[in-house]
Amino acid sequence: MTMELLGRIQRELDLLDQRDLRRVLRVTETPCAPRVRVDGRHVLAFCSNDYLGLASDPRVVRALGEGASLYGVGSGASHLISGHSRAHAALEDRLAQMVSPFVPSVRALYFSTGYMANLALMTALTCMDAQAEIFSEALNHASLIDGMRLSRASVNVYPHGDVAVLETLLRDSAATTKVVVTDSVFSMDGDLAPLPQLLRLCEKYGAWLVVDDAHGFGMLGAEGRGVLQHFGLRSEHIVYLGTLGKAAGVSGAFVAANASVVEWMVQRARPYIYTTAASPALAHALLTSLDIITGAEGAQRRAHVQALIQLMRANVAFHPWELLKSDTSIQPVVIGPNQGALDVAAALLGQGLWVPAIRPPTVPADTARLRVTLSAAHTEDDVRLLVNTLNELGKKNEHA
Ligand SMILES: *Cc1c(COP(=O)(O)O)cnc(C)c1O
Repeated sequence: MTMELLGRIQRELDLLDQRDLRRVLRVTETPCAPRVRVDGRHVLAFCSNDYLGLASDPRVVRALGEGASLYGVGSGASHLISGHSRAHAALEDRLAQMVSPFVPSVRALYFSTGYMANLALMTALTCMDAQAEIFSEALNHASLIDGMRLSRASVNVYPHGDVAVLETLLRDSAATTKVVVTDSVFSMDGDLAPLPQLLRLCEKYGAWLVVDDAHGFGMLGAEGRGVLQHFGLRSEHIVYLGTLGKAAGVSGAFVAANASVVEWMVQRARPYIYTTAASPALAHALLTSLDIITGAEGAQRRAHVQALIQLMRANVAFHPWELLKSDTSIQPVVIGPNQGALDVAAALLGQGLWVPAIRPPTVPADTARLRVTLSAAHTEDDVRLLVNTLNELGKKNEHA
């Protein structure tokens, strides 16, 4: 019996191998930074979402230690039992203050991960209304999609960036609760959602606009307050989500929305209620990280990343691979076939450059890609080395 069960799984794993879809875990042995040792080798990495280079910043590391001595390591319980510490409350106040110019009557709620925050959001915004409908952008992150499945609301998917189709769907909907859901920066493409137009539709049709700013918080806007600052948006319809394990360099996520929405989540969002609160030391460390993000140094780091993005885009000369149009740290190079993307990633690794190959189901079939991410911790020479190596590999590929 057991062997039959195992055999079924083994056959599926074999199928993944046949389709070049098996993924492997690589063990890093050094802190998150451009120069890392992975599986015993020293490489230059273009993989992480640590866009500002804060994940191993000595000041943030020190703040984590300080947080642990002030509050201990574990929270010991869920937020509603006894796990909600002063560090969590201080972090939430600080995050609410950061988002307050863009969302009236805002309150923020800290979660252990963005994945959980999205499950919480999708379920909480729809659970009070059996007629609720969600309008979901085609390239939304998996955590949003899983949240929608868990929500039991009906889901309409609109094509990537297609405001006209979304308007038709909203106009034809009789739902009493409408929720439009979108990533701000698309995680595997790097482009931005047309948020001003989406917001106009949400105001016109009385819908919530859920903005998942996982890759924008810390990076977009003059003070790094995220995509709402970038576009200069303010509305009662906005439900904002930022993550704190990417540009902020630590861990966790937050929802910032009208205080009643957040209070409802505290009362009803099961992914918030039935889980142990994240370590208060993490919340404490995040205060230091937010100081850096919103201060002069954050602006300098963002400007450096922008310079690196321009440097990369000005120098790519490879065919027939496609560098997608993107002004963010996410600079994807679409190769196409799974094996092709794996081959290029392996060739790069052979030259000491670590860039992840992203395959379906994370991206659509036949659009396997290298997902290059640029960080403030990279130098111009790092980027030149990557681009020159890619250009040479591209040339070889053309002649193959
Ligand atoms: C990374 C990511 C998440 C999940 O956040 P975690 O804190 O890593 O769980 C959610 N949405 C988007 C768009 C992301 O890129």
